[in-house]
Amino acid sequence: MKLETKLIQAGVGKDEKTGAVSFPVYYATAYRHPALGQSTGYDYTRTANPTRTILEETIAIAESGDAGFACASGMAAVHTVMGLFSQGDHLIVSLDLYGGTYRLFEQVLSRYGLTFSYVDLRDIVALKNAICPDTKAIFVETPTNPLMQITDIRAVAQLAKQHSLLTIVDNTFLTPYCQRPLELGADIVLHSATKYLAGHNDVLAGLIVTKGEELSEKIRFLHNSIGAVLGPQDCWLLIRGMKTLALRMERHQSNALIVAEKLREHPAVAEVFYPGLPEHPGHEIQVNQATGHSGMVSFRVRDVEQVGLFLQNLQIVSFAESLGGVESLCTYPATQTHADIPQEVREHVGVCYRLLRLSVGIEHPDDVVADLFQALNASLVVGGSVR
Ligand SMILES: *Cc1c(COP(=O)(O)O)cnc(C)c1O
Repeated sequence: MKLETKLIQAGVGKDEKTGAVSFPVYYATAYRHPALGQSTGYDYTRTANPTRTILEETIAIAESGDAGFACASGMAAVHTVMGLFSQGDHLIVSLDLYGGTYRLFEQVLSRYGLTFSYVDLRDIVALKNAICPDTKAIFVETPTNPLMQITDIRAVAQLAKQHSLLTIVDNTFLTPYCQRPLELGADIVLHSATKYLAGHNDVLAGLIVTKGEELSEKIRFLHNSIGAVLGPQDCWLLIRGMKTLALRMERHQSNALIVAEKLREHPAVAEVFYPGLPEHPGHEIQVNQATGHSGMVSFRVRDVEQVGLFLQNLQIVSFAESLGGVESLCTYPATQTHADIPQEVREHVGVCYRLLRLSVGIEHPDDVVADLFQALNASLVVGGSVR
């Protein structure tokens, strides 16, 4: 079966008693034991829940992994994985990174004695130089958020193996429909399933997928011990969203390519970042390791004064903080998703005050482009004349 079919088949007929096509939501927190020392496979819902099992099996299959784990949020997924590490351990992390992950590492886990080095992972020599005796893992985001920089997952995973380090990939931006890091040598994949996997801007969820029996057992233990698991209703919503992942991703990326090409031509725009554009510096690596580019497009306007006018004039595209849903959203990373990164770090990375991030939805592309263009045109007007 192809991925599209596997996703559609999630849970179909798995509720054997009823044959339900849509797998039911099991709210029960406790399950009867048939006899002393026996279990149906379900005892207490934190450890395992039938609806969650369907979701966890589906994401494990989609990512070519051995086990899947559903968490209360993307951050809960990251935190659960970090439970693998102990005081004194060091991790190497993508320099351009989701702000919430940076905040968890720097403001929470650093107090537990973990240390993190932020490295531009496009530079394999810099990565090699950052490895020290305490290094235990490399944490990769590719494409990075929000600058869409591409890391060569195969190269990173190969180096990691040579040094007995784990490779952990946040695959939120591309989803298994476009990129399967475990097939490229990574050990753990995680997701903010809140984004493309759920796909409708209405579920908060995280997923982890592991490769190998030993690692899967370690994460299973942490998932149950920490307890940041996903509730059954949200598991069901996420299963439902994932059934249409393939269709949505196709439309997200065809729309995003049109938007990126059009933005490039607009006089109010200084720079466009989209890995699907042939001139994008990471395009070749991206094409080698991914089958698509998803719907995330960032761009810089020419003048910081344009930002307020542009955001205020958007009508179809919502000025809102998330991504991956059917509705187009525009985010201002400097004050929203990346606000917790100190300004000097942010500016060094390139997340400046002229940068905007679009999550291109699945509307008709003409409507999205028209909305962006009228807002960009409005952003150029100062005191009645064009800037
Ligand atoms: C949103 C996001 C997260 C955090 O996920 P939540 O579901 O919001 O907790 C982590 N990584 C990336 C790349 C994200 O976009």
